Amino acid sequence: MEIKQLKQVEVVTDVVCDVCNQSTKLQFGNLSAHWGDGSKHDGQRYELQLCEKCFFYALATLKKERADKYMFDKSFDPSNLDGFGLK
Ligand SMILES: [Zn+2]
Repeated sequence: MEIKQLKQVEVVTDVVCDVCNQSTKLQFGNLSAHWGDGSKHDGQRYELQLCEKCFFYALATLKKERADKYMFDKSFDPSNLDGFGLK
């Protein structure tokens, strides 16, 4: 015999960007890390939820860092950065 009852369930209806504090309308990216043994930040956990604009700002910053670091390396091809981080 089935016994039915109406229950309230919490659901995520929005995620607010951790940088700009704007609604992501559930379209967001995660930046996370859990540092372990041997790292300078052993035991620390980080998790940021970013809106599309802030995510791509962070990605552009990391991409620029990579380009700056290897710009004088003869084997470095800047066109390889077009899909930086893209899977
Ligand atoms: Zn944002």
